[in-house]
Amino acid sequence: MRIEACYFCSSRIFPGHGIQFVRNDCKVFKFCRSKCHAAFKKKKNPRKVKWTKAYRKTVGKELAIDPSFEFEKRRHVPVKYSRETFSKAVEAMKKVETIRQRRQGAYIMQRLRKGRELEQERDVKEVQRDLALIRSPAAGLKRAQQDQEMAEESNNDSENEEDMEGVVEYCGEVTL
Ligand SMILES: [Zn+2]
Repeated sequence: MRIEACYFCSSRIFPGHGIQFVRNDCKVFKFCRSKCHAAFKKKKNPRKVKWTKAYRKTVGKELAIDPSFEFEKRRHVPVKYSRETFSKAVEAMKKVETIRQRRQGAYIMQRLRKGRELEQERDVKEVQRDLALIRSPAAGLKRAQQDQEMAEESNNDSENEEDMEGVVEYCGEVTL
């Protein structure tokens, strides 16, 4: 039993599922579901259809070039059966699979991190541009005016200097 890959979307095809099409030059095409089969019959290019793995790889959304993809190959050299080599191969397949999955996950996370940075930059720019919506441009003016008035008053009333200082401090705290 072998888990095949869909010709169109590259998803897995478990035994007993999907459609197999054999062209008259003996090339075998396997499809996971009728959606992929229909797209193939319409002569769609899987690299140009956005929901396929091929598209995601060509556009750089997923890890495409990696040594972990090189292990699975059809080799034309006949291998003499020995239990040891085959059991080793099975173990190696599992290891390669885990390594590949980890690398693919790391690649996607790296991509997302960059997107988050860009988003943050965009947010900061937006806030700077529309600062007037959050804080009125005249916000500081009122307080400055008040301070000025207080200062003038304190200059006029030289007798009650201590009390006025207290009031000025109090005003400063409130407006902050
Ligand atoms: Zn498919």
